[in-house]
Amino acid sequence: MAKFDEKPEQAQKQRDSDLETASSTQDFGHCYQTMLGSGMQGLCLIDKARQIVHANEIFAYWLRVNDPVLLGTSITQWVDLGERERLDAFLIDVDQDGRGEQTLNLVRGFGRRGRMVRMLGTRLEQLNGQPGIGLTMIDVSDQREVCQQLSQDVTTYRNIANFTHDWESWFDAEGHVKWINPAVQRVTGYTITRCMQMQSYPQDLFHADDRLALSQLMKEGRAGAVAHDVSLRVKHREGDLRWVSLSLQPMLTDSGEKLGFRTSIRDISERREAERALEAAKRAAEMASKAKSRFLSTMSHEIRTPMTAILGVAELMSSSQLDRTQREHVSIIRRSGDALLDLIDDILVISQSEGGQTDEKQVVFEIDHLLESVMDMVSYRATKKGLKLLTHVAASVPVRVKGDPVRLRQVLINLVGNAIKFSEQGEVVINVRPGNRAGSDRLDYRFSVSDNGIGIPPAQREAIFDAFSQVDDSETRRFGGTGLGLTICRRLVNLMGGQLELVHSDPGVGSTFAFDIPLKPVLEQGNQSVLDFDNAILKERRVVVYSHGETLRQMIQEMLIPEGVHCTAVSDHDELAQLMDVIHEVDADGQDGLCDMLLLDAEEPFPGMDVVSYATELKQRQTFHQLSFVILGLDPSPKERFALCQAGIDYVPPPLKRRAILKTLAGLLAVPGKKPLDGACESLSQGTHHQEGKEGASLRILLAEDDPDSCYVIQSFLKDAHCHLEVVTDGEQALKRFQEGTDDPLGKALPFDLIIMDAQMPVMDGYTAVHRIRSWEREQQRSPVKILAISAHGGKEGRLTSLRNGCDGHLSKPLTQRDLLAHIDFLSHRI
Ligand code: ADP
Repeated sequence: MAKFDEKPEQAQKQRDSDLETASSTQDFGHCYQTMLGSGMQGLCLIDKARQIVHANEIFAYWLRVNDPVLLGTSITQWVDLGERERLDAFLIDVDQDGRGEQTLNLVRGFGRRGRMVRMLGTRLEQLNGQPGIGLTMIDVSDQREVCQQLSQDVTTYRNIANFTHDWESWFDAEGHVKWINPAVQRVTGYTITRCMQMQSYPQDLFHADDRLALSQLMKEGRAGAVAHDVSLRVKHREGDLRWVSLSLQPMLTDSGEKLGFRTSIRDISERREAERALEAAKRAAEMASKAKSRFLSTMSHEIRTPMTAILGVAELMSSSQLDRTQREHVSIIRRSGDALLDLIDDILVISQSEGGQTDEKQVVFEIDHLLESVMDMVSYRATKKGLKLLTHVAASVPVRVKGDPVRLRQVLINLVGNAIKFSEQGEVVINVRPGNRAGSDRLDYRFSVSDNGIGIPPAQREAIFDAFSQVDDSETRRFGGTGLGLTICRRLVNLMGGQLELVHSDPGVGSTFAFDIPLKPVLEQGNQSVLDFDNAILKERRVVVYSHGETLRQMIQEMLIPEGVHCTAVSDHDELAQLMDVIHEVDADGQDGLCDMLLLDAEEPFPGMDVVSYATELKQRQTFHQLSFVILGLDPSPKERFALCQAGIDYVPPPLKRRAILKTLAGLLAVPGKKPLDGACESLSQGTHHQEGKEGASLRILLAEDDPDSCYVIQSFLKDAHCHLEVVTDGEQALKRFQEGTDDPLGKALPFDLIIMDAQMPVMDGYTAVHRIRSWEREQQRSPVKILAISAHGGKEGRLTSLRNGCDGHLSKPLTQRDLLAHIDFLSHRI
């Protein structure tokens, strides 16, 4: 027998020689012994007392001891402490049954854990003359590790599978369910055990209509097919139907052998419900949008039909013989009618652009004409608020272009209208400059509108472009409006290929809105001048322009320099005075004059005098006789016009239009010494019309109306009535003025007899004002004043609202003179 400490080569040599000896001697017993002693199997013979009588080399090696040490020791001592009971039971079984098998862990010398062995026990009848047991063992330690790893993996995967929300099932190759995770109960309401007992799992859990499809899927699964996200319905134990999404996948061994397949089922009821709701909401929104578009186009048609008649008749009237007042009335009708038509067009544009239909009108137009028409539309409001309205077109941009002037005009009117509405002082400037991009035949034009108004807080800079969104949306907001203007503008600019943005805004300082749009310059006529007269007269002329405002100075320079004018801009009054002294001296020397024309900004303060007095006084100086004077942006009183006419000084009224300025300049320079304002002096005696109370008026009326045009109409309607009319523009002022009473010629406060109250007004609406008036009257124990409401809401509903709010009468807009007088007569019994 080889010794434990022998080297393997020596042991092999010994074994070979033993075998040789055995075969030569034909000693089979010895042969067996040799083979058993040298094989990979452990061998051990124990006697009745479980003591080792013989052990082979490999067994001794497993225990890391020399075999003599083993002899006489109990087999029990070489087995793991925790397994000794099992060993005893096993040996008893072998004693009884003759054979037995068991897996046990051996211990090495010094008590360390040794090999795991599979033991085969055989009862031996004769071992040294008494019964014993022969144990043969194979080493299964490697299998133990694999098994341990496997069981660890199984635990991990089972934990994962148990934890997932999806309902997982594993089937064998025949389609019998082997394992289900606990999620089945959440999805179906049934326990795992109950499912395992089902005759046909999982088909029994599904809606009857889906079972066939599922059976087909399971069949395909058995055949190794893959399926993803198949929508099916599960019948929950509580009766409701749940939508699930089923995926199916084969289960294979590493070597690709088919083990079965798995299904993974996800509850998608909530997702389906959300999708369904979204779909329904989308359908409803589409239907609503279609209905809205239909409504808008019908409404626009219905409004347009009578508007055509109104505007047609107004046009007929304007070409007939009218006095000044009638002409003003007709122009209000036409202006308001045009604005209404534009609004209708815009609303239609919005609804069309939502529906993806656009109507592009590409025509040739001049930017100057367009800006002038914008200024015409808004100048009345700007002048009333004392705002300077300016346009500034960069000399480098071609002004004759092809594009969509209707939309561009609408956008600018809206932006300038806002700039005026939200400003109390300063300038409103429309700037036109070259944009950033240039196409093959198109140029980008950058339009911007700036003001010195209230500005927009940073948090609201994007929101203002949303429909019906306003910075101040309180009940009693200071400014009117719908919050629709910028939405319309943004869409219109988009339609023209640009993007409207608020490029800058500081609360209390002002705002600038701007957009770039492509326009096609039209150059074929070779003349980019905006003048429709000979502009050669302007060449080499010397002009001095005086304005404190940089915009106006720049505008004049950019306008005149390309026409060949030498233009000197002066911003300071002292500088102007010095310059005038120099001009005066040079002229007095009899040389050629230094200057042909002086342009004065009407809004510049002159020390101790107004611009008209300053200009007339300066013009009186002998040497300035040949110097033409023009006051820019002046709206003179009749007296001032007379003075200017006498002095030979011209003026350009606001808003300052490029063509009007150039035309005035060219006209004056063409005929040196020409008296300006030809034909104007005769009309000076006419004066302007001012609504004033008539002497001896018996009815004192307070009119509260914020819209200037409506105000004008009412004032005109009452011009010949025997009344004293006072006008306020919001409910708060109406309340205050009513409480104060009106002044009679002797300065004594008299109560008003009647209030005409517009229902919708900024700051405080008409109905709130009426409530406040009524409670004040009760406090003062005064008899109630007659109040006639005017509102855009007509019909019975509108009338009832007015009466419920404490008014005595109601008129819906538009008013007619006859109705108004009749109502006043009825309420006062005095007209
Ligand atoms: P509306 O003027 O009818 O209210 P818009 O859509 O034209 O509607 O404007 C939305 C809001 O944006 C206005 O109510 C105002 O709060 C703000 N806004 C627009 N333009 C200006 C401006 N130039 N200065 C200050 N605020 C402005």
